[in-house]
Amino acid sequence: MPQERHIIVVGAGVTGLTSAYFLAEEGYKVTVVAAHVPGDESIEYTSPWAGAHWRTSATPDQPTICDWDVQTYDYWIDVLNCEDADSKLPKSGLKMQTSNHYWDAQPTESLWWAPHVQNFHQLSTVAGPVSALNDSIPGGSPKIAWAASCRAPSINVPQYLLYLRAKAEGLGVSVIKSRLPTISGLETALDEAERVAMECGRPKADLFINATGLGAAKLCNDQMMYPIRGQTVLVRGEAHATRTRSGDGYVAYCIPRPGSGMTILGGTKEVGVWSEAVDPATTAIILERNQIFAPELLTGADGGFEVVSVQVGLRPGREGGPRVEGEVVGGRLVVHGYGHGSGGYQNSVGSARMVVGLVDEAFGARGGASAKL
Ligand SMILES: Cc1cc2nc3c(=O)[nH]c(=O)nc-3n(C[C@H](O)[C@H](O)[C@H](O)COP(=O)(O)OP(=O)(O)OC[C@H]3O[C@@H](n4cnc5c(N)ncnc54)[C@H](O)[C@@H]3O)c2cc1C
Repeated sequence: MPQERHIIVVGAGVTGLTSAYFLAEEGYKVTVVAAHVPGDESIEYTSPWAGAHWRTSATPDQPTICDWDVQTYDYWIDVLNCEDADSKLPKSGLKMQTSNHYWDAQPTESLWWAPHVQNFHQLSTVAGPVSALNDSIPGGSPKIAWAASCRAPSINVPQYLLYLRAKAEGLGVSVIKSRLPTISGLETALDEAERVAMECGRPKADLFINATGLGAAKLCNDQMMYPIRGQTVLVRGEAHATRTRSGDGYVAYCIPRPGSGMTILGGTKEVGVWSEAVDPATTAIILERNQIFAPELLTGADGGFEVVSVQVGLRPGREGGPRVEGEVVGGRLVVHGYGHGSGGYQNSVGSARMVVGLVDEAFGARGGASAKL
């Protein structure tokens, strides 16, 4: 029976917390052990630095990830419908927004997701608002050549992490802050996670979830992990819509942070770059690119943005995509869930459901311990 099984989830980012919450919903006893928890800020903790919004980066040759993203979109709509129906429910920090997508050339990426989102439609670039935008782009700079709009959730990420934690704790999940050693490998780290949990009165673990994001590079010596650096600028005011622009070698985006009175402007996707130092030249480029499509945020005394902060996060990239699979490590059952790259939020529901499925399978297979893993 799930209640008799104790699962330790290592990691309290969006991946670990969603997995912990869903496992607890399923009836498992769950303890989260993590070096960083909601409210913390660290370059080793990606989740607080995300934009974030639902804008899939999965491609048709990644059917599992496409499916995770669609599941998450649908789940978030259900969450929002419940919040609308009952004003006493805790607020997730999610909000459906108009989401405009601009390309400097006819998109080469597949728009497989168009039928899965609400109100997807192409926008004219020769008349209406996009044409007006193009008129405001200085001569010599690329214009918007193709555009589309849909409805998609954006996420107040600090609030969403706290919400997930509270939802999980409401189901009896215990969250323990502790850094696990990485130097002697995963097995030693899991021993330590169990020791720490037992010190807090939790039972021995029947299974572990490894949701350590980029930390898995060291913890599992996973050579396929790499950082994708993202610098963003938080500005005052909530943009009226989410906007993303894809050009030759760059992305620009503006994502309102629901309920916070602020908006995240981005950004960069620098593959293999570990630096957490803010680059002022990049900040200037981010502000310049966003100036065109977020004019409602130009409220500064100088006619520019009111900058609140500039920050850097490292997305947990992984060659071949996220690792969500079971393994036996030194006789311990482990389900890995890490390496979600640029899509950890929009993957989170589908990915966590797969984690729960693997856990169920593991226990089912041996009636207590896993042959499947
Ligand atoms: C600028 C930027 C914009 C983004 N925008 C979006 C977006 O719009 N949409 C989207 O879906 N995604 C977006 N992402 C990606 C998303 O943020 C990540 O995919 C996601 O946060 C990864 O979450 P995670 O839980 O796997 O890892 P993390 O959030 O890094 O969590 C890892 C956890 O493991 C713990 N841990 C690691 N090592 C150890 C150890 N040795 N001992 C104990 N604990 C350990 C950490 O403390 C932490 O709790 C963005 C990311 C960035 C940086």
